[in-house]
Amino acid sequence: ASDGGNKKTSRVRVAVRLRPYMLKQDEKDEGPCVRGLNSQNLEIINWRNATETVKYHFDVFHDMQTTQQEVFLSSVKPILPHILQGQNASVFAYGPTGAGKTHTMLGSPDQPGVIPRAVREVFNLVKAKNEDEGWKYSIGMSYLEIYNEKVLDLLSPNSQDLPIREDKDKNILIPGLTHTTISSFSDFDKHFVPATLNRTTASTKLNQRSSRSHAILLIKVVRTQSAAPRRQQTGKLYLVDLAGSEDNRRTGNQGIRLKESGAINLSLFTLSKVVDSLNSGTAIRVPYRDSKLTRLLQDSLGGSAHSVMITNIAPEFKYYFDTFSALNFAAKSKLI
Ligand code: ADP
Ligand code: MG
Repeated sequence: ASDGGNKKTSRVRVAVRLRPYMLKQDEKDEGPCVRGLNSQNLEIINWRNATETVKYHFDVFHDMQTTQQEVFLSSVKPILPHILQGQNASVFAYGPTGAGKTHTMLGSPDQPGVIPRAVREVFNLVKAKNEDEGWKYSIGMSYLEIYNEKVLDLLSPNSQDLPIREDKDKNILIPGLTHTTISSFSDFDKHFVPATLNRTTASTKLNQRSSRSHAILLIKVVRTQSAAPRRQQTGKLYLVDLAGSEDNRRTGNQGIRLKESGAINLSLFTLSKVVDSLNSGTAIRVPYRDSKLTRLLQDSLGGSAHSVMITNIAPEFKYYFDTFSALNFAAKSKLI
């Protein structure tokens, strides 16, 4: 198909994951407001007329029983080999607070999520590479958050707002951001765990900050040819736990919370426009520059990058309107 001479842009794969009930009693009392039909379609009760449902189609639908391993295998593992070949990728978890974004991305010691699995896999892939192929690999990490449209380094205490720049090859750079070389998974853990704990501690003090900022882990794989001309290629993998998508206007936020809400709304709204224009195939102007989040992800979302959005939703009725709007966000160009 002709794209009018524009550079080819890749689609964003859209997955939806429905988490289990938190309380058995709720499940007994109310039954889910949303239900899977098969591995790609689901339906939600229509609030205008409870005898009807609205149906949606996605690249993949993960039901309540889906394991962490299954989510990883289906949406994340296939894109990782590209990182070793100098290509970029991004995986982000979207959805209201409480719907399972952190569980999906981070998980727990018994149920590790996308982040620990992806990092282990990148190390395994590099280990399996043969020197004969003529490349040497090195792996590094950065860890940051975007809070109130400020870019903060989670690997550096007292970080100030960092600038986002673009080099002549259209690579996005953040001058001043800590970049740490890591040589094993435990090396990764050593840097990642304290930074995550710090962020969580700060969040209880600062009014659930963790649900009001975007946490962004960057894994960078640089490979260099062992012999002349010693060409070098860099592949970037962004793993993102987005701020909660709940409608902040309904919760009566004021002052600082209202400002936070404005920033969250701006970045998530811009993200939806970016995903939309990439997936509708008419990416004439993708509005990356309209928010820090999309600006940062610009070289790793669309273009030749591999991107996956995992939309997390909850079954309880109290989440109904947030679920409905998350599905509409995810489904924009995929409505059946
Ligand atoms: P979010 O990060 O979107 O606010 P969390 O990941 O913190 O949501 O999930 C809210 C609660 O639900 C947590 O207690 C989490 O452990 C639990 N949870 C989320 N998804 C699942 C799942 N797929 N299976 C089991 N528990 C889950
Ligand atoms: Mg969370």
